[in-house]
Amino acid sequence: MTMRRGRGVLSVQLFLGGAAVLLPAVAQGGSIFAGEGFGLDVITHPSGYTGTGGVVNVEVCIDAAAANAASMAIPVQNIVLELNNMTASSPNLFFGLDNNIPAGVVDFESLTLHELGHCTGLAHPNLGFRMGVVEGANTNFTQATDGADNMFAFDAGVDTVIGTSDDLRGDDQNLHWFEKLANNPCIGVANPQSSNYSRDVADLPAGHDFAANASRDVCSALSVADTEAVMQQGQGSDEDQRSLQADDVATYRMVMTGLDEIAGTADDYTINMVYGGIKADTSSCDIVIQSSTSGFGVCFIGGSSISSTDHWRITSATFQYNSTLTWFFNPILNSGCSVGDIDLTFAGVTHNNTQNHQACNSITYGPSYTVGASGVVTATAPSVILGNGTTVIGQFTADSSVP
Ligand SMILES: [Zn+2]
Repeated sequence: MTMRRGRGVLSVQLFLGGAAVLLPAVAQGGSIFAGEGFGLDVITHPSGYTGTGGVVNVEVCIDAAAANAASMAIPVQNIVLELNNMTASSPNLFFGLDNNIPAGVVDFESLTLHELGHCTGLAHPNLGFRMGVVEGANTNFTQATDGADNMFAFDAGVDTVIGTSDDLRGDDQNLHWFEKLANNPCIGVANPQSSNYSRDVADLPAGHDFAANASRDVCSALSVADTEAVMQQGQGSDEDQRSLQADDVATYRMVMTGLDEIAGTADDYTINMVYGGIKADTSSCDIVIQSSTSGFGVCFIGGSSISSTDHWRITSATFQYNSTLTWFFNPILNSGCSVGDIDLTFAGVTHNNTQNHQACNSITYGPSYTVGASGVVTATAPSVILGNGTTVIGQFTADSSVP
């Protein structure tokens, strides 16, 4: 692969290897395009973000030609909702009788959360299965380059736990963002941004040698049980990991501070995942889900830099899962909210036709919103707000149920 800095375009394959199926893999760190080729500080944004703040819609579609297309609909909708909720859960690993997955079977919904993370720009917090990481346990060292000597340094330090703050990594260059104050990815971080979050080991707390990653072993060592970053590579059978963990949420929030990496400024954005359904023509979709007959799960992505900065965005994303393996497709739709929009606002418009507005949290009308004489508007959301300057001449119905 030719690595070019700047306005380059490339494709990267990311695999989710697991205890059930182990694969050789190519992986990138921190943000998906970060590394020796494009730069350690690269931050990757979802498709649609060009540096202007606001809501970035990311439409996820199931290719009608994919194996088990209909069975994927509920798991994919659950993950769309999970990503839109953007809330950290702990514990977020459930096994045996604590989940609805049959023994020996791999959960498609858990895979989908991980792969859609890649498809929106996130990389593995750990090295994962790749060239130069021969032994299984070494895959859990924190994501880094292999440094000037082209060889990873594997020393788990005094605590002998791989991936913790006392790992000695030689000249490996860290690619995993961490909170400067605590370097503890197993607990939540308020408002991550460049002032309190860093990739540079010079910003680590006193006495720490490397960025810790939120593997289940590291979190256990930090007294946070059954908790692991979703983006950690590795998924076993009978494993339910359908909720984001604190490190996943912090990474997304950091990325959503935009080009200036400062929260609360005009270039901040919110990712709004939209479930596009099962489609024969997926040309309008940002992320397409297909099946394959090899590997495990993978998101093929293309990207380009934004205005020749360290910031990149995804330009194409295809998530393929190996349909020849035995998967569990969760048949239970979560929380009843199946639409992609959390909040909607209608201002400065007049509706003179039939409109059905649906959101998981709230819909706000106004200022300057009018239902014209021929308008029939139905608003379905737990909170429907009629603001200043709202005029109803035709018909308006507010339904406070969850759509
Ligand atoms: Zn992965």
